[in-house]
Amino acid sequence: MPALQPARGTQDLLPDVARRHRQVSETARAMAALYGFAEIATPIFEFTEVFARPIGEHTDIVSKEMYTFTDRGGEEVTLRPENTAGVVRAVLSNGLTQSTPLKFFYSGPMFRYERPQKGRFRQFHQIGVELLGVATPQADIEVIALGQRILRELGIGGQVALELNTLGDPESRAAYREALVGYFSARQSELSDDSRRRLRSNPLRILDSKDPGDLRINAEAPSFDACLNDASFEFFGRVRNGLAQLGIAFRLNPRLVRGLDYYTHTVFEFVTTDLGAQGTVLAGGRYDGLVELMGGPSMPGVGWAAGIERLAMLIAAPPAVPRPVALVPIGEEAETFALRLVEDLRDTGLVVDLGYSGNLARRMRRADRIGARAAVLLGEDELAKGVATVRDLDSGEQSEVRFGDLPTRLRTLG
Ligand code: ATP
Ligand code: MG
Repeated sequence: MPALQPARGTQDLLPDVARRHRQVSETARAMAALYGFAEIATPIFEFTEVFARPIGEHTDIVSKEMYTFTDRGGEEVTLRPENTAGVVRAVLSNGLTQSTPLKFFYSGPMFRYERPQKGRFRQFHQIGVELLGVATPQADIEVIALGQRILRELGIGGQVALELNTLGDPESRAAYREALVGYFSARQSELSDDSRRRLRSNPLRILDSKDPGDLRINAEAPSFDACLNDASFEFFGRVRNGLAQLGIAFRLNPRLVRGLDYYTHTVFEFVTTDLGAQGTVLAGGRYDGLVELMGGPSMPGVGWAAGIERLAMLIAAPPAVPRPVALVPIGEEAETFALRLVEDLRDTGLVVDLGYSGNLARRMRRADRIGARAAVLLGEDELAKGVATVRDLDSGEQSEVRFGDLPTRLRTLG
């Protein structure tokens, strides 16, 4: 019955995994707040042009990964494949361009029609930050420092390495593009079909290819250094010095490019060898031309996004939730009374699970299954006496406790 399976590339986040996801997003949110980034939530779908133009028609995302459809009103809309374009659209729609710098954090689902594999899904989740309106390298350094702090706080700082490169300003990038076209044209016959197409449309993207043949050719491709103009070279130097000053280790990777068209200057990725082929956990860079490209004023920006699924696989299991108390009423009168009693206990902060139905044995089995610390048994006898029977489910000991003493008693069980 295929209809009873989740659609290909999507998955249910059952409680244990959902808890890992929350650990990632809540840690990131708290760290982002330390840096003064405020949370923003933009719609999950936008007019297609919000993504298509800025991301670039020759990128994988736009050419083959977008979930695009015509809605019932005839509008062309797309489920967001990433969130930078959405955030910039929101900045422009809400007239926020006067109040820079703007610092945003987001967390939520993204959608790309990809071939699903470990760490790669069609619906996945990202956390991310955008810092808009700051042209100087401090911004690059701050967003990288924030990314690193989140990874450290998640306990995986030692498993990831920061890779860094620069794409320079548009002038340098154009010069590099030319150098690459020259190099790859000479070896065109050895390139994969995809990369041969990229040679005309988006030659920088060949460097991002995962094709083994392309990788060999890429290894000897000219590197960006030779094409950087003075201003771009100096900018990159300041970013590197700032990171060094903060003790943030990085490795220069001249092959590092980003899949999207709008990047300039700094690009970076935090990578791990612990996830197989899908090793990039956090990736970003500077995108100085994007706001203008989207119809806004000239406004620089830098940011990153990280895949929650990949981070959730790396982190240790989050601390267990407190064990509940199971309230087990027996008989109709006790069931009615229990509805009130569980509320009173929850008012004191105790986690209480109410056994709804079934005989005593069945309700006790449920208490066991949910890992309850204690069961509070409530029958006619108990009701008449104004007490409940508290059974310690670890030791098996039980005793009668007056209703008013229940919170204190249950709390001492720990
Ligand atoms: P890749 O080279 O792995 O396809 P990308 O360059 O397409 O990555 P970005 O657009 O930079 O990825 O997204 C930032 C991060 O979001 C990635 O580093 C990854 O952790 C995560 N991510 C991207 N696509 C997916 C996906 N389909 N499933 C799960 N996580 C993803
Ligand atoms: Mg991709």
